[in-house]
Amino acid sequence: MAASFPSHRAPAYADVPDEKWNDWRWQLSHRLNSLEDFEKVLTLSESERRALGSQNLFRVDVTPYFVSLIDPDDPNDPIRKQVIPTADEIVPFTGMMEDSLAEDRHSPVPGLVHRYPDRVLMLTTTQCATYCRYCTRSRIVGDPSATFSRSDFEAQIDYLRKNTQVRDVLLSGGDPLTLSPKVLEELLSRLREIPHIEIIRIGSRVPVFMPMRVTDELTDMLQKYHPLWMNIHVNHPNEISAELAEACDKLSRAGIPLGNQSVLMAGVNDCPHIMRKLVQDLVRIRVRPYYIYQCDLVEGAGHFRTPVSKGIEIIEALRGHTSGFAVPTFVVDAPGGGGKIPVMPNYLISMSDHRIILRNFEGYIATYEEPLDYTRHDPKTCPYCQHKRLETGQSGITGLLDGERLSIQPEGFDELRIRGGAQHRLRADPHKWQPLGIGSGEDDSSAPKE
Ligand SMILES: *Cc1c(COP(=O)(O)O)cnc(C)c1O
Repeated sequence: MAASFPSHRAPAYADVPDEKWNDWRWQLSHRLNSLEDFEKVLTLSESERRALGSQNLFRVDVTPYFVSLIDPDDPNDPIRKQVIPTADEIVPFTGMMEDSLAEDRHSPVPGLVHRYPDRVLMLTTTQCATYCRYCTRSRIVGDPSATFSRSDFEAQIDYLRKNTQVRDVLLSGGDPLTLSPKVLEELLSRLREIPHIEIIRIGSRVPVFMPMRVTDELTDMLQKYHPLWMNIHVNHPNEISAELAEACDKLSRAGIPLGNQSVLMAGVNDCPHIMRKLVQDLVRIRVRPYYIYQCDLVEGAGHFRTPVSKGIEIIEALRGHTSGFAVPTFVVDAPGGGGKIPVMPNYLISMSDHRIILRNFEGYIATYEEPLDYTRHDPKTCPYCQHKRLETGQSGITGLLDGERLSIQPEGFDELRIRGGAQHRLRADPHKWQPLGIGSGEDDSSAPKE
């Protein structure tokens, strides 16, 4: 392999035989979770001691491998902050919500979140190899008694079988790669029996927390269920080790395209230079940066939040400055269940009826002359337009462009607008205001559709 990254093992584990250290079961059963455990490998701060000594803390567990990546004497180590609790975690903040993404509201059956038209998020377990202090699902994650039952699983499969618009299933949790190999394989094979499910995705931090879990047996099993994609979760370049590089190499060789999701966090990675190094190191191990998330409004994560502008600044520092495929999309996962909303710098400066003024990453300002004789795409002769109509009630702005409807109104908009006035001529005809079909190529569709 061309890339070379460091390998770490904390001095406290110097005497552990390699075959144990490299066994994921040993890593799981030797996780650190108490003040006494952490004291053996790190110099703890007062704030960490206080948090580790308190009750009602979100579950703490860190693999010996991952704790070894921490500089034991640096209280501001970016890896340490992600997994070791501090007293800041206990401080509530304005806007904090238990289920900030309203996932529970979008759950047709326990453990399935069906937010988008063609794909679902499937929560497979509440267990992880190590627990992130900023976990967006800390309301359920970590609690072994809250994990999903056999009947929940059957209800999930049943829902997926009946909802033929679902073509992409995203396995998450908890961490699906902490499931026993037998349970994971059953899950994958049951999903593969459903013909309309085209792709399966696994969201996992196991390669980062416990790269030894990525064994040949695991990749041999996974590759039976292609097309299979995987997103890992790396936040800082220090997490990229020789072990992670090897795990990613095995997954890539098994034909699994790898992506990365990062969470933007104060004191961890809120710096364009850290992020540039991170995305460049990720592509060296053949992992494509996919998303950077604005930190959610979740309990325990208040001290990690940054202004949204920090994410825009990071994208500004990446686009054009480094390889295009190393640039992720910065998203705010909208509180209340709005889903992921991309946010980025503006590159479009102005426009007239046939000129677009754009700026590049260097500040160079260019004119693009638009064609004056564009032959418009004709939906009537396009087979994709005929057959791939968005029919989910979630067509959104695309629906407006398609001429499906004329406006999207906030709840109660019509009632408010009437303001009690009497019935009159302009209100009488419900078909009065129909889309004209301008721009949709359906110029003869101005007749009422209903
Ligand atoms: C993030 C997410 C997905 C997947 O979104 P993509 O943009 O396709 O990666 C699906 N469902 C839910 C509920 C999500 O939060």
